[in-house]
Amino acid sequence: MTPPAPLQLPTADEALDWMRDRTATGLATARDLVAGLRAAPPAEAEGVLRRWDEVSLALSNVGAVASLLSNAHPDLEVRTASEEAELEVDKLVTELRQDRALYDVFAALDPAGLDATAARLLAKTLEEFRRAGVDQDDATRKRLAEISERITAIDQEFSRNIRDDVRTVRVTPDRLAGMPDDWLAAHPADDEGLVTVTTDYPDAVPARMFVRDADVRRQVTVAFNERGWPDNEPLLKELFDLRHEYANLVGYSDWASYDAAVKMIEKGPAIPEFIERIAQAAQGPMERDLAVVMERYRQDVPDAEAIDSADSGYYEELVRKEQHDVDSQLVRTYFPSEQVKQGLLDVTGRLFGLRYEPAPDAVTWHEDVTVFDVYSTGTDDVGDGESLGRIYLDLHPREGKYKHAAQFTIANGVAGRQVPEGALLCNFGRGLMEHDHVVTLFHEFGHLVHHVLGGHVGWTRFSGVATEWDFVEAPSQMLEEWAWDADVLQTFATNAAGEPIPAELVAKMRSADDFGKGIQARQQMFYAAVSYWFHTERPVDLTAKQVELQERYSPFRYLPGTHFFANFGHLGGYSSAYYTYMWSLVIAKDLFSAFDPDDLFDPVVAGRYRDSILAAGGTKDAADLVADFLGRPYTFDAYAAWLAR
Ligand SMILES: [Zn+2]
Repeated sequence: MTPPAPLQLPTADEALDWMRDRTATGLATARDLVAGLRAAPPAEAEGVLRRWDEVSLALSNVGAVASLLSNAHPDLEVRTASEEAELEVDKLVTELRQDRALYDVFAALDPAGLDATAARLLAKTLEEFRRAGVDQDDATRKRLAEISERITAIDQEFSRNIRDDVRTVRVTPDRLAGMPDDWLAAHPADDEGLVTVTTDYPDAVPARMFVRDADVRRQVTVAFNERGWPDNEPLLKELFDLRHEYANLVGYSDWASYDAAVKMIEKGPAIPEFIERIAQAAQGPMERDLAVVMERYRQDVPDAEAIDSADSGYYEELVRKEQHDVDSQLVRTYFPSEQVKQGLLDVTGRLFGLRYEPAPDAVTWHEDVTVFDVYSTGTDDVGDGESLGRIYLDLHPREGKYKHAAQFTIANGVAGRQVPEGALLCNFGRGLMEHDHVVTLFHEFGHLVHHVLGGHVGWTRFSGVATEWDFVEAPSQMLEEWAWDADVLQTFATNAAGEPIPAELVAKMRSADDFGKGIQARQQMFYAAVSYWFHTERPVDLTAKQVELQERYSPFRYLPGTHFFANFGHLGGYSSAYYTYMWSLVIAKDLFSAFDPDDLFDPVVAGRYRDSILAAGGTKDAADLVADFLGRPYTFDAYAAWLAR
């Protein structure tokens, strides 16, 4: 059998027609398949599921490329058409999940005779329909649809209020001493002799970190914490009420329980337990970090008893600079971007038994993009010499392109049906890279390699990174470790004179990065607690609840008169599940503990990791994948040891 060929993407002038055509054809195919399923479903359960998986594949083939091109294509018209295609796919997905006749087809299936993965697919499918309220009466379904629509609108308005509420602090230039020279040069005084500092990140972040004048730092911090307030307070209360109502209507006691049911954590009440557990593990490390910060703080404010967020960033940075002595300008000289890219391919190739062959004939959306076909180097059941998938690396910024760093799916792989293809969209400079960016590149590549290796399962629904949302960061967080290892870095991080990065420098970089872990963990648990309790308790006085949780978890005192929750954007997308990042990190540290620190490339461990975690995609619960690899259930131990280090 010839393996399926990779997708041929369109050239720039064909892109608009190509996208429109692909959308129309894909949606029509999905609708036809669904009509057939409703009218004359195959007799066997497996046949119904196969047909349904074809629907999923047709929809994902439109949605994936649409999402990529709407974020990456240089032509605005193509981006707009792609955004529309994404919305059309979303609309059809919602419509199908509320389709009672279709649901009845699945509900009537007999799972006996299905293998474990197909039975899992049936269970997940029924669950997705029920979570959309398909089995409710007409009035309830109508209300659920209204709620969903209103939640989307609130979410957009909430984000817009944060984005558009740009506040300013105006001060004389002398009061900005400490700011980087290039920032000062770009911000001369106006006619009144004042410089404007906005609450946008490029101003507020350095101002809070570097400005020596404590009063200016305080003014900027207060303004930053007031973004979105008061407008967002009533919106948030409405959002929490609507989510609660939705959860109740589909049979859950609260929103967090509804949301957690499809995650690794499973139960809503397990979230505050997790928060409490991390907070306790971080108690000692936080006290240790705070003692160092307070000692430095008291050199300037002799009788200080506590520190708040108007001063914490500045003094943490001072400690890093004065006590850890990492010259970031020097560090950059070891990371020319082309060398880092090749190094990343060499390191991950060696680790996962892969070979990346340039695919010069592949059509791309921009000349910056490089394309590789991925091959297995070992002997395994995928077969040596056969392409495992195709990856596109689009690493540098340009106008109209996505502004952060992320992995995008181009095609979900299904064994014998379609090869997995994915892209990284990043925004790194073309010359020397910051080490932070090198770590980000490894992180994002972790998602890409998961997508490719997990793209050989039998079903679209379980292809690639289709694991629980609170697990999906773990493989990427773990791969970051390879970008912190001196031996690994020395294989590619060499300066213009050809000298590899010194191990002592890497050690200093690590100790600077380690400082403040306890503080960060407690601050993260404060955010996670806000995200959980605001949704579960739905407090009348949001400010009072924020203050209570801040006192309980945060290392920093509440800044009187501020309303941070009004600009806590994750209350929109993450809703009650802000804990997920830390949850993944706990598991990432546990996964990494299986590797030998003196031989991060041990092929036995790496091969087992590749096969049991990455190649499995979403075919099993993440907890089982982790147990398959570790030979035991996951624990907190490795994370706690790392935190205490
Ligand atoms: Zn990630």
